Amino acid sequence: MRLRNNPKANDILAAHDDIVILDGKQYRGKWNELFGNSNPIYIEIGMGKGDFIIENALRYPNINYIGIEKFPSVMVGAIKKIDQLEKIPSNLKLLKEDAILLTEVFGKDEVNRIHLNFSDPWPKKRHTKRRLTSPAFLDVYQNILIDNGELILKTDNRLLFEYSLVSFQNYGLHFEDVCLDLHHSEGYEDNIQTEYERKFSPFGPIYQVKTTFKG
Ligand code: SAM
Repeated sequence: MRLRNNPKANDILAAHDDIVILDGKQYRGKWNELFGNSNPIYIEIGMGKGDFIIENALRYPNINYIGIEKFPSVMVGAIKKIDQLEKIPSNLKLLKEDAILLTEVFGKDEVNRIHLNFSDPWPKKRHTKRRLTSPAFLDVYQNILIDNGELILKTDNRLLFEYSLVSFQNYGLHFEDVCLDLHHSEGYEDNIQTEYERKFSPFGPIYQVKTTFKG
């Protein structure tokens, strides 16, 4: 996501410490204590401006949601949207962190589901390792997900989708569902759209794959 650097972003994040977590390490193994319940934890890695995670939190109050983003300037977009709500959903937190470091932030088996939505495709071969579905990231996800925990990827980028299917297959993930046109297929009426999805779905199909990590 390209966004001009906002020099005040870090101050804005710090002023919203009721929802923003800047140092996630302190909650490793204790996220349920922070939420005050033992509900499942679903995270979105690369939440951008937060449309998807905010809508999920409002729709499903019995799930705890954590939107993860590495750029403070991008997170400010999500904070602005939350500020417009009547009340901050108690089942929603925003975490500033790089996905590759998530084992420092979540304990083993602490997360029930990971959403990757419209992840950056990094089309150049020399940047393959930066893709959020490359093996180094799958190692991280396996570590923090419960047995049979879900990893769901949604994208409009065919090359990233194809790369990810192969990466998941090579890693031994179990394929639960593959959809090649999410917006024109039956059974996906509860789909919650992301900002990128709204922007790019008029130009072509949205692909989705749902996988699980076996214990
Ligand atoms: N998920 C949103 C959507 O669908 O509208 C945003 C998609 S945007 C193309 C990808 C987002 O992932 C960007 O905001 C980027 O900063 C974030 N991102 C990329 N790599 C990341 C990483 N390693 N850790 C955390 N966030 C990352």
